[in-house]
Amino acid sequence: MKAKPQILIVDDDPNLRKTLADILRVKGYETAVAANGAQAIATAQQQTFSLALIDLMLPDIAGLEVMARIKTITPLTEAIILTGHASMDTAITATGQGAFAYLLKPYQMDDLLQKIGHAVERKQAREEILRLASFPRLLPSPVIELNLAGEVTYLNPAAERLFPELNMQGLSHPLLQGSQALLTALWHGKQPGDSTLETMVGEATYELHVSYVQEVDLIRIYVLDITQRKRSEQEIYLLATTDSLTGIANRRYFSTVLAAEVERTKRYGAPMSVIMYDIDFFKRVNDTFGHDVGDYVLQALTSLVKQNIRSNDVLARWGGEEFMVLMPQSNLKAARDAAEKLRLTIAAYHFHHCDHLTVSFGVASFEPQDDLNALLKRVDDALYRAKAQGRNRVEALTGEVTAK
Ligand code: GH3
Ligand code: MG
Ligand code: MG
Repeated sequence: MKAKPQILIVDDDPNLRKTLADILRVKGYETAVAANGAQAIATAQQQTFSLALIDLMLPDIAGLEVMARIKTITPLTEAIILTGHASMDTAITATGQGAFAYLLKPYQMDDLLQKIGHAVERKQAREEILRLASFPRLLPSPVIELNLAGEVTYLNPAAERLFPELNMQGLSHPLLQGSQALLTALWHGKQPGDSTLETMVGEATYELHVSYVQEVDLIRIYVLDITQRKRSEQEIYLLATTDSLTGIANRRYFSTVLAAEVERTKRYGAPMSVIMYDIDFFKRVNDTFGHDVGDYVLQALTSLVKQNIRSNDVLARWGGEEFMVLMPQSNLKAARDAAEKLRLTIAAYHFHHCDHLTVSFGVASFEPQDDLNALLKRVDDALYRAKAQGRNRVEALTGEVTAK
């Protein structure tokens, strides 16, 4: 339940104090009374009041001084000055010094109650404003507001700290450069609701949550620091898609790429081929020189192959010492030539520790009747045939041959 507003009545007339306090209690306020300025100040030090009703003529301290002292203690406390005709001028001065209103004695009770109601509302509204203002101010992430001319109208401390140039540079600041189209759309009412976009400032990645705030006719941008999240996402992506020993695509990622390429080939009819290769007698390398040398050979072979294929060919580790090359835009002859070139390059290469190695190759091209599995089976069959026919050779298979 919301607490009742607290009102301090400061008057040296005991009857007036009591009557007023009784009426205000009936009207739902909590009241405290003070017979002079010193008492009023002492009470204000102990308790926070929404409002003080202060008689201008007090026996010890002037009413204006009492008001000033109370406002020093609790700046949001409102004051209504009650005065006789003689000190009307001073009462007017009081409003200049922060009194909410003044009232001439004898006053109409309705008048006073109405002014009290408004004063209490103003106190609550000012508290609310301060409370709301503290949100962006205390937010650890940057908050930026722009007016419709694209000028920065507000930066919270986090924004000032992270982007000290933002005030000067406005929309040309690297943080906001990428959001100009969105901001224009928001300003012209073409983009309703909130929008999110990513932007980079130097090495750091930020996520901007941009919205038009109709109440204040401003664009507000919340900035999150997502560099770490971005990095983790990239790491996870890398782990999921690459082979840790060789750094090339893993089987899962290659399968996804190949499936997409098959779909593309079916739609557009451009040629596409795959090469599958497997090291000859690799078991002997491990057995003779040890597993570490085996690992080294897999890495060295991978860099050698990478250097001898096109940049848009996709190289992947398919299994232990079995690899795949996806060759977009290549027919069977082109792929077979490429495999033959790789075979010769590898056979001529001097590997540390184990000197020479050979590799067997299977080659197949996508054909109209194929699906993904048919293509994979054919290239596997081609490799098997290369092994069966003596290794260190390239075998290319077409669908017709497989069907026989
Ligand atoms: P083939 O000519 O018929 O291909 O003979 P191979 O010896 O190469 O074939 P096989 O399948 O018998 O042996 C493959 C070997 O590759 C067995 C396995 O220990 C080794 N191997 C698979 N993955 C790795 C790896 O990551 N590191 C190392 N060092 N060896 C691996
Ligand atoms: Mg092998
Ligand atoms: Mg093998």
